[in-house]
Amino acid sequence: MNLRRNFIFYLFLGLFTSCVTAQGPSESTLVIPASQALMDNDVRAIIDKMADEIETKVIDWRHQIHQNPELSNREFKTGEMAARHLESLGIEVQRKVGITGVKGILRGGKPGPVVALRADMDALPVTERVDIPFASKVRATYNGVETGVMHACGHDTHVAMLMGAAEILSAVKDQLSGTVVFIFQPAEEGAPPGEEGGAKLMVEEGVLENPNVDAAFGLHINSLTEVGKIRYKAGGAMAAADRFVINVKGKQTHGSQPWGGVDPITVSAQIIQGLNNIISRQTELTKEAAVISVGMIQGGVRNNIIPESCKMIGTIRTLDTKMQDKIHEKIRLTATNIAESAGATAEVEITRGVPVTFNHLELTRKMLSTVERVAGESNVIVQNAVTGAEDFSFYANKVPSLFLFLGGMPKGTSPIDAAPHHTPDFYVDDAGMKLGVRTLCNLAVDYMEK
Ligand SMILES: [Zn+2]
Ligand SMILES: [Zn+2]
Repeated sequence: MNLRRNFIFYLFLGLFTSCVTAQGPSESTLVIPASQALMDNDVRAIIDKMADEIETKVIDWRHQIHQNPELSNREFKTGEMAARHLESLGIEVQRKVGITGVKGILRGGKPGPVVALRADMDALPVTERVDIPFASKVRATYNGVETGVMHACGHDTHVAMLMGAAEILSAVKDQLSGTVVFIFQPAEEGAPPGEEGGAKLMVEEGVLENPNVDAAFGLHINSLTEVGKIRYKAGGAMAAADRFVINVKGKQTHGSQPWGGVDPITVSAQIIQGLNNIISRQTELTKEAAVISVGMIQGGVRNNIIPESCKMIGTIRTLDTKMQDKIHEKIRLTATNIAESAGATAEVEITRGVPVTFNHLELTRKMLSTVERVAGESNVIVQNAVTGAEDFSFYANKVPSLFLFLGGMPKGTSPIDAAPHHTPDFYVDDAGMKLGVRTLCNLAVDYMEK
């Protein structure tokens, strides 16, 4: 592809949109000197024109990625596709950052801040049921089980949109006052058991250093939000997800004579009630939401034996780190004291998982005008916090960050009829991606100039 010729074309389009056809300018339009166009043109207009022009290319990339989904930490082909595209644009590329991750560095023509744009690349062990020409037929083994593989969270669109943003930003790089770091990240859905991965590993391997990133932006397509809309929440936007295990130890006895031992099953039942009370009675729910759920309880082997022990496993979701610490402490206190009151013991183990995805308050305030300009003010919606988790939080823990939700539900559809993420019927519309590409580019450009 003749990049320079395209570049001049896009510069020109910004000036004389009415003169050109949908296919491109007539030959005579190309006589406008690039230098003049450079002076006269607004980068933002070029972004919009290029986003129109490359839309079908972005859609093609998305279809290709959708048909070739790869599970977490196995995004070899997807990562290579992104890396080659960046290289074709003259962007400096580092491969194998965090296993299959790719980092691209685009240095602008003028000095300025460093902005990171992130896309996650992994698919899920879900068998696609959507009737589309580019449906996935890929199968793999996950956790020892044979399964279909599907982009059931829309990360295929994230990769395609970031590739599109890279193409546009590299075309205007001489006008950029700063550097853009492109992060194509593996394993957002979680590395397979026994492996490391995701944003945490990329951060540990220095993805935010050399050059030192000043701010990070990320988008997540959403199957329940209409195309053209963007949702956001300042502060705690997505929850921290921590895992807990409670082992209750009693004293085994005959089921007909409970007084002869200590029943760990009734103690566990009391502990579950105690955990519910932590949320309903001891947590300031008007500040932020919080959730404790017991997802597994296991104890005993038959009807007339009161067992020795009972084990519970569950998840804790919080949106504020202080509340997170407090709830952890209360879980320990509640479980051990209830157990003690019955003559049992409770061992509590809490493992911190993905932190709160926190949208930096000042950065959110500063970039809101950009998002409103790009999407249209009425299309930008403040939303409630989400109790799901997102490992973008590992970047947000290091540098001021903003994570937005992008509409992917076909226009005119009701959210009631739209399939949620991680399901075999999950579907997002190609039409949603252009706004994503424009948003990523404009966030980078505006941040550099603000
Ligand atoms: Zn997901
Ligand atoms: Zn996702």
